[in-house]
Amino acid sequence: MSKHCDFCGRFFVPDPRVGNRQRSCFRKECQEARKRSSKRAWRERETPRGYFVGRYPYVKEWRHKRRSKVIQGMETALKAREGDPLAAELDAAMKRIGEITMENELLREKARRAHPLAPRRSKR
Ligand SMILES: [Zn+2]
Repeated sequence: MSKHCDFCGRFFVPDPRVGNRQRSCFRKECQEARKRSSKRAWRERETPRGYFVGRYPYVKEWRHKRRSKVIQGMETALKAREGDPLAAELDAAMKRIGEITMENELLREKARRAHPLAPRRSKR
């Protein structure tokens, strides 16, 4: 299926997702012209006058509810994390591994200084 572009008049094949509703071809100038014309059409309708009027109280309440919901979600997540015994155990184990690694390194360095000519184990 092909159509005439409303803006340049050339033939084009509409995107299958838009189909027959597509008014402009794929050239940038035509797409911009189409956008300009649809913006003008929207402005010239009656709706825009007052489209945003009186919406603020609703938006304000919506934002407030949303904020409370987000904060509640964070608190729930934090509580779940604090109360997880496995996570606490893992934390302790990771800390212990860090300490042991540090200790091991210090001992290795001490041994190397005491016997500088001793064969060293290969480090990987
Ligand atoms: Zn065109």
